[in-house]
Amino acid sequence: MKTERAPRDCRRLDGLGVAPGIAVGTVHVHDAGALHAPEYRIAASRIDSEQRRFAEAVQAAMRQLGTLKRRAGKLPGAAGEELGYLLDAYQQMLSGSRLVRGVNSRIAEQRINAEAAVKHEIGELLTAFAAMEDSYLAGRMADIRDIGQRLIRNLTKAPVRAFSSLGRNTVIVTEDLSPADTALLDPETVCGFATETGGADSHTAIMARSLGLPAVVGVQGLTGQVSSGDTIVVDGTAGQVIINPDAEALCLYRKRRADFLRHRRALSRLREVPAVTRDGVRVHLNANMELPTEIDATLYAGAEGVGLLRSEFLFMNRDDLPDEDEQVELMRPVVEAMNGRPVTIRTLDAGGDKLGSLVGGRISPNPALGLRAIRLSLAHVDLFEAQLAAILRVGVIGPVRILLPMIGTPEELVQARRILDQVVRRLHRRRVPLPDPLPPLGVMIEVPGAALAADALAYHADFFAIGTNDLTQYTLAIDRSDDTVAHLYNPLHPAVLRLIQFSCEAAHRAGIPVSVCGEMAGDPRLTPLLLGLGFRELSMSSTNIPRVKQRIRQMSIHEASRRAMAIMTEWDAARIGALLDDFNAALA
Ligand code: PEP
Ligand code: MG
Repeated sequence: MKTERAPRDCRRLDGLGVAPGIAVGTVHVHDAGALHAPEYRIAASRIDSEQRRFAEAVQAAMRQLGTLKRRAGKLPGAAGEELGYLLDAYQQMLSGSRLVRGVNSRIAEQRINAEAAVKHEIGELLTAFAAMEDSYLAGRMADIRDIGQRLIRNLTKAPVRAFSSLGRNTVIVTEDLSPADTALLDPETVCGFATETGGADSHTAIMARSLGLPAVVGVQGLTGQVSSGDTIVVDGTAGQVIINPDAEALCLYRKRRADFLRHRRALSRLREVPAVTRDGVRVHLNANMELPTEIDATLYAGAEGVGLLRSEFLFMNRDDLPDEDEQVELMRPVVEAMNGRPVTIRTLDAGGDKLGSLVGGRISPNPALGLRAIRLSLAHVDLFEAQLAAILRVGVIGPVRILLPMIGTPEELVQARRILDQVVRRLHRRRVPLPDPLPPLGVMIEVPGAALAADALAYHADFFAIGTNDLTQYTLAIDRSDDTVAHLYNPLHPAVLRLIQFSCEAAHRAGIPVSVCGEMAGDPRLTPLLLGLGFRELSMSSTNIPRVKQRIRQMSIHEASRRAMAIMTEWDAARIGALLDDFNAALA
């Protein structure tokens, strides 16, 4: 007999809509701390080979921990020592311990695969530790989980596919989704997500927009109010989630979803026409890319090039560093697919909310202000050189530009150029073919100090890309991924606008190209302002290109410049927003 599920209360929760569109689907509550492993039964004849596979995974883990320990040894002071002790403890956990014995007997007795055996054994250890009510042991639980994850990763020989066995139309609900987790979402099965934490321009939000997944972040108390299997609506346009919607609400949101998709399809026809203002000024619209899987969307949107390839994807969801050859192979498809259109490759921007502990294993006490981006590259020159060499090598396939993140001083750029020159010489000696001319070397303007020193930077740089996300964060001292201050994060603050204007003018005076590649560039509401300030090149999530192009084709530069000048005399962000809205309303 079929059991009827009692209808649940329809609940509506507010958050911050960070990627537009509407998803209607089934909830999958994701626990970031949980172990994800394939599970299946094995034949008796496979017990030996499964135990061998496990022994190899343990050996690999020992080697990885050894490498980490050597790196930790080079860290200054107590941090290196502490990390060394921790890694010793990890190695002990793996040498003939209860964990190893337990996994082997599970494989033999329960006849399950090694990944499942690890997962169950770790689960039992965690339960035993939790029952001891000892704060020291409670602290070790994270370590045990970490070891389990490492073993499972070694067994599957791939990043943990946390979202690999989901059905179609799944909505991920979780406390927090890291950019690396977001990179694992498959838009074929996942149709949207909602989280308790996060800000509008956090990297997770940016990835949601790039993948075209409706998303709402900062929904307080969300995970306590839903269970896997519930029906949910994520309205990324209005910033709401509706849990267990009633029939009427479901019908309404399905219609809104259909309208949204129809509108998006209609806009996509604009890809055939150029971005030209009514008074004939041509604007170049490029795409930002976080993952090579976005190539099709980038081409479909009619991007004229890639204005920002965030190379963090090369380093995500793995615990070793890719060498030069591997980086070439990972970037090659992007440059090839762009087929002669320029690709701006940004060197690694680890740190902040991205790949926090990639190198050295130590998390900075204040990651946004710590050893991130270019600082990290200059501190780990071998890593930087491998990346520069790989970029130079893909530059033979198609035109590339090299972009340095988070430059703060001209010295950093000078130092980076010196390293680039050395890499060029080394590749020459290895007789590796190089692009001729060599790729331009540009800088992100995303630190207030860099904007204020834009004249000096323009003297050394081949081009500027203005990163308004970090520029807003650092100018206003507001963490871009913190939902508790998200309402204060406002790129229309006059201080931010003045820094943008100043940088644009410095680039024009020096005669170097300048673009905006932060999220402001993809917001059609702000297009008249950016063009009025003098920008003729914008780079954005490819999903935004049609909307921005439509706005460009509606406006005249003459009128936009006049309005921008008036706006720049204002000091109140709300009034600036109102002036922009007036202008946009007159265009539509
Ligand atoms: C920015 O800061 O505006 C930017 C484009 O870089 P990211 O968002 O990757 O920090
Ligand atoms: Mg940035």
